[in-house]
Amino acid sequence: MARAVYVHVPFCLHHCGYCDFALVANRDHLIPQYLQALDNELQAHRRTVADLVEVDTVFIGGGTPTHLSPEMLQMLFSLIFKHFRPTTGAEISVEANPDGLDDTRLGVLRDNGVNRLSLGVQSFDDTVLRTLERTHTSIQAMETVGRCQGWIPNVSLDLIFGVPGQSLLSWQQTLAAAIALPVRHISTYGLTFEKDTPFFRREQHGQLKRAPDELERQMYLDTIARVTGAGFRHYEVSNFARPGSQCRHNMVYWQADEYYAFGPGAASYLNGVRRTNARSVVRWLQCWQRGESAVEDCEELSNEEKAREAIMLAFRMREGLNLRAFQERFHVSFAEIAGPVLQQHLDRGFLQRQSDFVALTHEGLLIADTIIADFL
Ligand code: SF4
Repeated sequence: MARAVYVHVPFCLHHCGYCDFALVANRDHLIPQYLQALDNELQAHRRTVADLVEVDTVFIGGGTPTHLSPEMLQMLFSLIFKHFRPTTGAEISVEANPDGLDDTRLGVLRDNGVNRLSLGVQSFDDTVLRTLERTHTSIQAMETVGRCQGWIPNVSLDLIFGVPGQSLLSWQQTLAAAIALPVRHISTYGLTFEKDTPFFRREQHGQLKRAPDELERQMYLDTIARVTGAGFRHYEVSNFARPGSQCRHNMVYWQADEYYAFGPGAASYLNGVRRTNARSVVRWLQCWQRGESAVEDCEELSNEEKAREAIMLAFRMREGLNLRAFQERFHVSFAEIAGPVLQQHLDRGFLQRQSDFVALTHEGLLIADTIIADFL
């Protein structure tokens, strides 16, 4: 049985031009309807299980969950905890942005057991923040991290590199500022231009220029050197943590384990079946207001598909894939599934084998997505 639950809160103050998550901005009048619809979705789940479900991780993401008023935020937790009981020591994570995260909201988070905050800081350079259309400043971000200390033990920062116009020096300064703060986890992402985003269109019209590949590569190498040099462990392609502070919820995904998921665009993985909700917030709302499922895509994975997915996810982890555990779990050897591809990447130096583990090399990390896609 799954022991992790994700809840998607699709509201933001502003829709940043690069973001393609399922969300709405300036539609706060929909928040009460969202909570009602979420209650319906959670109750429908409850009818499929006998009792309260115990979970080891809860992840409330978005969107910006802390965009909700303190009262609505409290209501959100009450709805979730009516159906899911976090075990003692469970990880309860919430995504937040520096602006609007006041002490009242922090109090609601703490009172509901939130022990991990994932803060969308993105940069400590105000010019980069403006390019990204973020609604906070670098000073605000620093002040918020400082203030969180009294409330939430594990604060994580999300940072973005490869932003148009961002120099290597700007990125290095952002890394230095992040490392100097009392945070236990740092996630770094290269900016992507997703189809159907304003950034994609602006790039197509020549109004935004992608960062050169060589600069992005250097930024990533610098990230690894500087962040690990400051005592963080590089445990996943994009993630670094102080010892013992890895994101346990995301580890559930990377270990191809099962999880519940609720809200627009959310995808659950239960009993080998992936169900994905409507990405449109309005469509999801309309379905659940009528008490009808908003699942738009349902895919039952064969054993081979599960095995391939487990390979791809495990390669994101620095530790890599445990071949013995893989065979025990899927009753098929890695060689049968992907022997020739493995050999190719071992020969090219993108993968390495150490006893039972196969993992990306340093070179492989730089083209992780390409290598991983070869195992599809
Ligand atoms: S605040 Fe975050 S979730 Fe909201 S639009 Fe911006 S990037 Fe997307």
